[in-house]
Amino acid sequence: MSPSSAEPGSSPVHPWDVLIIGGGQAGLAVGFYLRRTSLSHLVLDNQIEPGGAWLHGWESLRLFSPARFSSLPGRMMEGGPDYYPSRAETLAYLRWYEERYEIPVERPVEVTGVEHSGDGSLGFKATGRDAHGSTRSWYARAVVSATGTWSHPVIPEYPGQDDFQGTQLHSAHYRSPDAFKGLRVLVVGGGNSGAQILAEVSRVAQTTWVTLKEPVFLPDDIDGRYIFDQATLRYQAQKEGRPPPPPANLGDIVMVPPVKEARERGVLRAVRPFLRFTPGGVVWPDGRQEEIDAVIWCTGFQPALDHLHALGVVESDGRVQTKGTRSVREPRLWLVGYGGWTGFASATLIGVGRSARSTVEELERELAMEPKPDRERG
Ligand code: FAD
Repeated sequence: MSPSSAEPGSSPVHPWDVLIIGGGQAGLAVGFYLRRTSLSHLVLDNQIEPGGAWLHGWESLRLFSPARFSSLPGRMMEGGPDYYPSRAETLAYLRWYEERYEIPVERPVEVTGVEHSGDGSLGFKATGRDAHGSTRSWYARAVVSATGTWSHPVIPEYPGQDDFQGTQLHSAHYRSPDAFKGLRVLVVGGGNSGAQILAEVSRVAQTTWVTLKEPVFLPDDIDGRYIFDQATLRYQAQKEGRPPPPPANLGDIVMVPPVKEARERGVLRAVRPFLRFTPGGVVWPDGRQEEIDAVIWCTGFQPALDHLHALGVVESDGRVQTKGTRSVREPRLWLVGYGGWTGFASATLIGVGRSARSTVEELERELAMEPKPDRERG
């Protein structure tokens, strides 16, 4: 019998070997390797179509890594190895990938919680809301969480923030500069998102760039492949027992063409943060008040792990303690994507393949040690 989901109380129930939560690039990469195994598996994703966080990127977003360094296992993105794919092309690639490799994704399903089923042979029970708003449960011997960070944008707190009458928007929800035409805008955040959004908003608005410290710009001839090269050097050093070189800083700014162009216009100058908000603007450290219409927060993300809280594995820093991709406290739980803490470059298109492969190798070893449950639950 094939695995099934169940309405609470219904029967029989047969667990999946592996349930993957999240159908972005990380979930797809895990699915790619799982299809080469005999393990039954299902991906649950809360979006209405393939693409994960790329569905929500801004319109002009382009990869900062060329296709050769931005592809999932199995097939390179279109456009030639040195081409920098657009957001639309990245979305098309992820859709194609999911279809081509027949990765079984059910969407939209929002998984609200994962817990122990209370029945050893059923393993975990994941509860979620499906496309019809119905609550359903899925059982699985092992869970891979691949929910990314997009749905958990981080906005720092400033005094007076709630009284500020202007617009506040996180980069997670920024689409295009159109809404900011003619406005006085603060762009807050010194990473790649901040630099790229500043570059285009500054063409139509009066902008000030606010960063905690002076931004670091990579040399013009270095692109996103540098991040992966650094990650590979660290991975090899660790495998060979040598001290790893320092990690690449993902916040260092890659000089993509729009950012270079903004530099030519002289807008890449950053100032240190303001002290507080007023209803109409902000107060700077020298006491000067400035009227501001909008703030775009390019201040990063936290892992989206609310669904794992019931398992008691989410630490105070918002992460799960892992060895490789495997949870230390919950040995049947793996985490793929998210950031360097789940594997070198595992939050990048090319890097996630390595994390996904090692995860599936571990899943195969772990689940093979135990016979599949063959009884049905009445
Ligand atoms: P996601 O794409 O976020 O996928 C996770 C999926 O899980 C989503 O569909 C999400 O909605 C879903 N989900 C979340 N919670 C639940 C739940 N409870 N139940 C069900 N589903 C859930 N990488 C590169 O390699 N090259 C680049 O040039 C590059 N540029 C980037 C530019 C920006 C601005 C950003 C933010 C990132 C960039 N990255 C780049 C990094 C990386 O490729 C993306 O962040 C990527 O989306 C991460 O994929 P993921 O699968 O881990 O997470």
